[in-house]
Order: sequence, then structure tokens, then C-alpha cells
Amino acid sequence: MRKQNDKPQKRLEEDVHPNLLSKGKKLLDMYYTVQELAETLDLNPRYIREYLVGRKGAPQKEKVNPKDRVFINGKELYEWANKFHNEKLARQKSNPLKDEEFLCCKCQQHVVPENYTVTITKSGVRSRNAFCPICGSKIFRYEKGK
Ligand SMILES: [Zn+2]
Repeated sequence: MRKQNDKPQKRLEEDVHPNLLSKGKKLLDMYYTVQELAETLDLNPRYIREYLVGRKGAPQKEKVNPKDRVFINGKELYEWANKFHNEKLARQKSNPLKDEEFLCCKCQQHVVPENYTVTITKSGVRSRNAFCPICGSKIFRYEKGK
């Protein structure tokens, strides 16, 4: 039998940190420094400055001089994070799991374990349990009703 995990894995798209969506509601329509945002959202300042603004293009106040500090409008950031998250959900919907695939939350991608066990929940739903072939984390999925 051909080993399933020789197949190239589809990488799922990244999502924003959940704190941006939950705690981001509190942000006001005003400019914050990265440090203020990090405290309000309970996030690492580097995540905000280097990842969100630097790599993902989160909105920031236009700088007159490239050495100026980064200022971010709270409301704009929250709206941007929601848009990013919703677009990711829409892409995920258009790329559903195939019957043999599981979603590994740690690897953030579709994986195919060599085998799995089935348990039946109290409500009668069949759940497949396995281990991720890449990172070894527990993974599970519900079986489609037949
Ligand atoms: Zn994994």
C-alpha cells in the first residue's frame, strides 16, 4: 500500500490571533502605539509590529518619516482583523476536507493519518480519532452522515 503521507500537503492559510477578534471590540476610533495595543489585546508587540503590520499589511497611520513610530487606529485594526478572518473562513469553505483528510490545528493543514479509530458520541455522531503524521498531535473529525 502506498503511504498516504508521501502526498504533498496543502498548507492552510494563516489566521489572525483570536484575541484580535475577541478583545479587539474594545478598541476605539483613535490612534494607539504598538505597546498600547499589545497591552489592550494581550498580545506580543512584535506580533503586532512585525507580523500584522510588517508582513500582513494591517493598517497603520501614514508615516511622514520612515523612522516615525508606528501608530495604529484601533477601530481600523479591528475591522481589518475581521476581514482577514472572514476571508480565511471563506477560503476554508471553498477547500473542504476530503473524506480521508483531517485538519491538524497545530500544523494548520490538511493531513492524512495512516489509521484512525472511531468513537460514537452520546448524541450518536461518529468521530474519527487519530494522530497527526507530521507533528503527532491528537486530531479528530466527525464523519459525514451517510
Ligand atoms: Zn500536526
